[in-house]
Amino acid sequence: MRLPIVLILCLSVCFYSSEIKAQNLKMTYKTDTYWQQQANYTMAIDMDVESYQFSGTQNIKYTNNSPDVLDKVFYHLYFNAFQPNSEMDARVQSIKSPDRRFMTNVGTEQHPIYGSRIARLKADEIGYIKIQSLTQNGEPLSYELSGTVVEVKLNQPIQPGETVNFDMVFNGQVPVQIRRSGRNNKEGVALSMAQWYPKLAEYDDEGWHAYEYIAREFHGVWGNYDVKITIDKDYTIAGTGYLQNPDEIGHGYSSKTVIHEEEKQTWHFFAPNVHDFTWAADPEYIHDKLQVPDGPMLHFFYKETMAQEQLDNWKYLQPYASQLMVYFSDLVGKYPYEQYSIIQGGDGGMEYGMCTLVLGEGTFDGLFKGTISHEMAHAWFQFLLANNEAKHEWMDEGFATYIEYKAMNDMFEKDMPNPWIRAYMSYKSLALSGEEQPMTTFADKYDHNSIYSKAAYYKGCVFLVQLGYIIGEENLDKALKRYFNEWAFKHPKPIDFIRVAEKVSGLELDWYLIDFAQTTNTIDYAVKKPRGKTVTLERIGLMPMPIDLTVTYTDDTTEDFYIPLRDMRGEKTSSATLLPDWAWSYPVYSFEASKKVKSVVIDPKGFMADIEPDNNSTGVKK
Ligand SMILES: [Zn+2]
Repeated sequence: MRLPIVLILCLSVCFYSSEIKAQNLKMTYKTDTYWQQQANYTMAIDMDVESYQFSGTQNIKYTNNSPDVLDKVFYHLYFNAFQPNSEMDARVQSIKSPDRRFMTNVGTEQHPIYGSRIARLKADEIGYIKIQSLTQNGEPLSYELSGTVVEVKLNQPIQPGETVNFDMVFNGQVPVQIRRSGRNNKEGVALSMAQWYPKLAEYDDEGWHAYEYIAREFHGVWGNYDVKITIDKDYTIAGTGYLQNPDEIGHGYSSKTVIHEEEKQTWHFFAPNVHDFTWAADPEYIHDKLQVPDGPMLHFFYKETMAQEQLDNWKYLQPYASQLMVYFSDLVGKYPYEQYSIIQGGDGGMEYGMCTLVLGEGTFDGLFKGTISHEMAHAWFQFLLANNEAKHEWMDEGFATYIEYKAMNDMFEKDMPNPWIRAYMSYKSLALSGEEQPMTTFADKYDHNSIYSKAAYYKGCVFLVQLGYIIGEENLDKALKRYFNEWAFKHPKPIDFIRVAEKVSGLELDWYLIDFAQTTNTIDYAVKKPRGKTVTLERIGLMPMPIDLTVTYTDDTTEDFYIPLRDMRGEKTSSATLLPDWAWSYPVYSFEASKKVKSVVIDPKGFMADIEPDNNSTGVKK
């Protein structure tokens, strides 16, 4: 019987003296709370380029830096997603607006019917990773596979601070390219090897993140990667990590002429302090290099079989890529590795450690301004500032979009007053659609792909631009730099970023994070018709904001005003006339100007994401 035990405990506690009670309360006022796991990988892979099958060995030295005892670990076997009836396949077949890249026409040309490509993969076309053996410190482990995730029950729990060895022997098959990874995609790249190896799931202060591979986004453990890949001698490998044996390999990595006598070569890569290892290989890659001044060596890999115009694009973009590396380093923080590779992967664009895989064909604008600029931005958000992409997708997509648009505006001298206007328009269309889901939605659980895109990329971008409106652009620049200094090589969360912005600006900003990032509340302010010297504003939307305001007087002079939001407990630096703050719960705010008012405009620069801008001005002749 359980109840009497509780009763006895209760009675005994009641008889303790107050002195003993105080001693037992062991209160801790200060702890160093941040920690992250470490997984150092050593892998050796032997790839058969005819069958697209490979065998591998893997050692992971896994250090439990958490305060918790771990009695299990999880591995991702992402390639298993590319099998009929996988969760990825099920989602492709059930989501309202599936990504066309996952689909194929199973009807006729006149009457197309789109079906899942994954559902139609044959046994020699699917992807898989099969575990042959797995040990912990030399002792065999039992494990259970479900979909793309393996749960491993440990023989010996891992104590806080302990390092253990996991050794795995495995074999795999590279799938026909569906998304991101695969073989012989439509641009003819032989091997795009992303999410290709057994990868430990991350454990952090929120617990395990053993996410099934449904469609998008990742979260990995920081560590060092020592990887040997044995492959047919004609193939050039591009990817994460520094090549350790360039003079044996050649292929553009060494100035020496290398004669390949063996049928296969073993490439040895080392990547320090990364959370992923990706590579691509093709026998037709051109390999160019360009040294960024005071920066990394850029490597470019693209197929020599492309049309001349496309080959020209790949030459033409190289100095721009170097400029962009300098631009992002100045804006956010110095790119810390000595190498960055831009690789024709042949499918979309995706960011990885020290490299990106991108579509190689198309126009210069599409390739550089639309794709490479975005993927390079991801070297900061989320490769170095490694937020959990599955939970906080807007932090990497939105922030990358922010610096991408800023860079493209500055580099190509478009000089737009609001370089992020496209993001604002896209967000507003989402907010007005009635279909918006908050940015706290798990990346795979948006109702439509387009809702995900508009929320993660565009609302996430607006989040930053608008933060600049709230705290001042100079403070936003400082916040990005401080965020990098404090959080690079870690796993920051939204609260970590907003705390940095608070410390830089001296303003309270939790209201902003909550309203804009965690709800679908919208901003809508309106100006009432001015009466004499009196200006009256109305808050219609639930989300409050500080207000920049320009008043034109009847004598045609103008005056800028600034109304801080009371929740901010302070104000940004502004040359405008400072008015008393506005507490959000009051729907109406009035003040007296110095002269008779002709017209009023809220936020003339348009940096506030007001979903009904038509009521933001009055008395202005249109
Ligand atoms: Zn992106």
